[in-house]
Formats: sequence, structure tokens, C-alpha cells
Amino acid sequence: MWKARVFTLYPEIFPGPLNKGLYGKALEKKIWSLEIINIRDAAEDKHKTVDDKPFGGGNGMLLKPDILGKSLDSKIKKNEKIFYLSPKGKKFDQNFAKNLTKEKTINIICGHFEGIDERVLGTRNIEEVSIGDYILSGGESASFVVIDAVLRLLPGILGNEKSKNDESFENGLLEYPQYTKPQIWEKKSVPDVLLSGDHAKIKDWRLSQSKDITRRQRPDLWEKYLKSKKNEKH
Ligand code: SAH
Repeated sequence: MWKARVFTLYPEIFPGPLNKGLYGKALEKKIWSLEIINIRDAAEDKHKTVDDKPFGGGNGMLLKPDILGKSLDSKIKKNEKIFYLSPKGKKFDQNFAKNLTKEKTINIICGHFEGIDERVLGTRNIEEVSIGDYILSGGESASFVVIDAVLRLLPGILGNEKSKNDESFENGLLEYPQYTKPQIWEKKSVPDVLLSGDHAKIKDWRLSQSKDITRRQRPDLWEKYLKSKKNEKH
């Protein structure tokens, strides 16, 4: 069973989208599990203080290392990976998600305010992960992104194992356009080739569409794709 343990100041937000549809069923079937830890439970004073002002001045508040450290130490077992969601982190992507499926348990820390005291990262061997170049108010929504991306890769959750290989990023390209019934809608028909029944032709068309769209929307991915094709030839 794959497990995600999430450390948060807002436990009531969970499981949120993660127990809907197939993910909810998989949770019931114990294909995966979710443990939510309220960081505030580790606070010791009357007011349950979890944050304080940064040394050296500056805006906002930081999660205190003693409280966060205590919270982590009370739950995390040896050799489990720990991730702190942070805009400074390594960029999360499809490969990152794939690697996380190989872990038995992952721990995710959701920051708030200005973030957390830097010392916690080093002492607890924590990896920083970013879901993109923008600033969120807290790590909770980012944790949904990370867990969602991993869950759909776990065997037995989505049902159609083959469909996963067709998605954007799987072959280094973005996905081709797709169409369903009605065949004509608002005077627009679906591309003829898709009605031809010629599977080789359809495959070619889809690949060329994937290439076009990747070149247009994501020159960075396109460059990478070209390089990987060149290397294949050598
Ligand atoms: N002061 C920090 C931003 C704090 S944002 C900085 O400039 O780097 C508050 C919290 O939201 C962070 O602690 C983190 O857990 C979460 N967060 C914000 N943006 C994120 C992103 N792009 N990816 C992952 N987590 C993010």
C-alpha cells in the first residue's frame, strides 16, 4: 500500500479532492492511504503557537523549528522520504511523480506564512519540491497536485493502464487533440482521418499533431524532444 503522510496547519482541508471518484474507491480498497498530521498538535503553550518572526527582520512569520521538528519526529520512520513544498524546490514533473510511486511512504510538509525555519530542512534531510514558478499561500493545494499525480500512476487505481502511456509528457510530447460524438457539432466536423478506420494513418496524424502543438506551446519541451531523438540515432 502506498502512503502519503501530510503535515499541515489546516487538517480540515483533507482529503478534499483525494477521496472523490476512483481515488476514493482506491482509498477504501486500501490501495493507498492518507494520514493527516496537524502540526499545531505539537505546540506546547496555552495559545498553541506555531510561528514566530524571522531573525534579521522582514515580513511575515515562519513556522518554528522546534514545533515542526517535534511534529515530524513523532510520526516519521527511518528511511522515509520527506518533502517540503516550496517555491525554492526542485521542479515537480511527471518523472518526479513516477519516482514517488516507488516509495512506500512519502511525507509532505505544507508550509504557511513566509515558510519554515531553514534548519529543519538540513537536520531532517528534507527535499524541497516546487510545483511551479508562482507563490501559493500555503502548501496544501500543492500537496493535492503531488499526490494526485502519483495516485494515477499506481497500479489498480485508474483501471485503464494503457491510457496512461498516451498522455502528455509520456513520450516527451504534448497530447494530440481528441474528439467525441456528435460527429458534427456547431457545423464543425471532426478531422476526416479519425473516421477513416486506418489505424496507421491515425497514429501518424496524432504524432504530427503532438509535434505541432509541442513546438508551438512548449519550445522548451520541443528542444528536449529533438535532442532525445538525435541521441537515439547515434
Ligand atoms: N517566502 C517563501 C514563500 C512562502 S509561500 C518564498 O519566497 O520562497 C507559503 C507556503 O506555500 C510555502 O511554505 C509552501 O509550502 C507553499 N508554496 C507556495 N508556493 C509554492 C510552490 N510554487 N510550490 C510548492 N509549494 C508552494
